[in-house]
Amino acid sequence: MVIWVVKHAREEHKAAVEWLNNHADDKIGFFLCEIKLFQIGDSDIAPSFTVVERPNDWTKEIRKTTATNPTQQQRLEYWQAFNDYAFQNAEFNKAFNKRMVSVLVIVAAVPLFVVAGMFEMQVWARVLLMGIGFAITVMGIAIACVLDREAGAFECPECKERFVPDMKSYVMGPHTITKRKLTCPKCGCTKYCKHVLTR
Ligand SMILES: [Zn+2]
Repeated sequence: MVIWVVKHAREEHKAAVEWLNNHADDKIGFFLCEIKLFQIGDSDIAPSFTVVERPNDWTKEIRKTTATNPTQQQRLEYWQAFNDYAFQNAEFNKAFNKRMVSVLVIVAAVPLFVVAGMFEMQVWARVLLMGIGFAITVMGIAIACVLDREAGAFECPECKERFVPDMKSYVMGPHTITKRKLTCPKCGCTKYCKHVLTR
């Protein structure tokens, strides 16, 4: 891999790198990068690189070359097969999306609280950060609720009817991890109904 760093990428630079990428064999890739330096106030100088020109099939090549070792190749095939199989299954898809929402909320919200708690800053900035963190958390829980309601159904302990509750009774109903107090649409009893994955 060859990276050519320039201050200003001119047409002849681009043409040269493009020619190299088209003519060199596919084990070697040529990049053309522009470097910019940033300084905010008295801060340290920070470099920033912009890729101007890259090998045409760069992303495809990475996959091919990094998976040459048999263990890695197997792993790649396993996850591709898993991916193909799992996402055909609508229930799995929903359950997976729900998990992802929770993970993303944690990843997105926690640093905001940490930053808000740890660093010296203006009060308004602290309040703003915590407000954003709180908003993300609430939104994530709401999305997780919608996906959870849509994934699978609840089973009435009396008549074994399986049903999907409407949003209001779902959100308002008291619940444990696996059960939720709901009114059965068939027999009308209000009991703790078990969450089941199939309808
Ligand atoms: Zn029932």
